[in-house]
Amino acid sequence: MPLDLGRLRANLDAVRVNISAAAARAGRAAAEVTLVAITKYVDAELARALVELGVTDLGESRPQSLWEKGEALADLPVRWHLVGHLQRNKIRRTLPLVSLMHSVDSQRILDALNAEAAREGRTLDVLLEINISGEANKTGLPAAEARVLVPQLPNWPNIRLQGLMGMASLDGDPSANRREFASLRKLREELRALAPAGGSSTLAELSMGMSGDFEVAIEEGATLVRVGSALWEGLA
Ligand SMILES: *Cc1c(COP(=O)(O)O)cnc(C)c1O
Repeated sequence: MPLDLGRLRANLDAVRVNISAAAARAGRAAAEVTLVAITKYVDAELARALVELGVTDLGESRPQSLWEKGEALADLPVRWHLVGHLQRNKIRRTLPLVSLMHSVDSQRILDALNAEAAREGRTLDVLLEINISGEANKTGLPAAEARVLVPQLPNWPNIRLQGLMGMASLDGDPSANRREFASLRKLREELRALAPAGGSSTLAELSMGMSGDFEVAIEEGATLVRVGSALWEGLA
């Protein structure tokens, strides 16, 4: 399919307008919200076109796809986000490419990420993925486990916990999603109070909201929205 740049630009403009409107409704500045464009549905050429339209942050859910697109777009100043599960045997190849890891969901993966970041002499920015939708969605740590992990952050000196990530239930109505997003924001406040003083973790970020619910997420405090299909409508 030839690249329909006009369509891509229109989709991006619509997403940006909706981000601004949602931020305005919540009395927030649109600049407080970063659009992370999820490229898992499209090829590197379309991802490149989006970056050339001004998008700086791209995300993939599979490490292999991130490797491929990261390589194809290495000449562009892209900040890559991994938003899906990372197996430990893929850490070494993935870490150098990633600006922010959204989906840290176990102490085991924290241990492994910290060890690899230490080996490379760097600090890694991560989000803890929290299960905010209960039964409907089984990915992410239960909130209770996050409350246990956060006081132990000094055990992972090469990890900087920048915040939390959550996915609302896909079949949830908007008010259910709003409650789930609000619960993630409250948990973030609670965890901030539990984080040891003097560490480098900010717990400033809330990664929540996808194509179907990013406006509600922004109204509830999202600082990162992970938008895929709304950007690629009519293109992929
Ligand atoms: C695919 C994906 C998204 C984007 O979903 P859309 O509904 O297409 O916007 C966001 N977050 C994660 C974790 C995903 O896997």
